[in-house]
Amino acid sequence: MGYDSGRGGLLNAVAYLAKRLGAAVVALDAHFPWGTWELHLRLGFPLLAIYSGAEGPQPGKLARRSDKVVAVPLPPGASDRSVEAALALAERLKRPLVLEVGLDLYRLEPLGHFFATTAAYHAAGRLIAGGGYVVLDCASAASIPALKALLAGADGGPNPLPEGRIEEGPAVRREVDRAIRKAVERIDKIK
Ligand SMILES: [Zn+2]
Repeated sequence: MGYDSGRGGLLNAVAYLAKRLGAAVVALDAHFPWGTWELHLRLGFPLLAIYSGAEGPQPGKLARRSDKVVAVPLPPGASDRSVEAALALAERLKRPLVLEVGLDLYRLEPLGHFFATTAAYHAAGRLIAGGGYVVLDCASAASIPALKALLAGADGGPNPLPEGRIEEGPAVRREVDRAIRKAVERIDKIK
């Protein structure tokens, strides 16, 4: 599992499920989901991608190739507020969802620049509490609490390991709010 796994079987499962279920894919991962993106271009399922903007593509570049992609790049320092706002966009897709979740936005990831707590992963799980699928990526021993919260959310249960929220700086909030506003405009046009 990792950065290049999109070309292997793992993320093909995401695309396969999305196509078969008429679902949209929500990718929440510090890495942009390049493999799923390629399959999105071929198969046409809607794709909401939430990823690290420092390493990932510009939303405008993606938009030029597809009218069914919505990209929310996150700046370093993003935490629950930003992740939850980006995840909330998924409701606007009005479709079943397949989640592709990397646990690398979790605050205890040693290489991460993000500060999501278990609350953000619990929110991700809740997106599919009424039914849906999740495929995991970028998991490590450090991110086990995030995994437990994700699974509890998907099961419709409470967050088993609540943590103190980590405040975001004003620059992070502004940048994410701007990205969300643009994403709302795009996502409401997806049919
Ligand atoms: Zn990742």
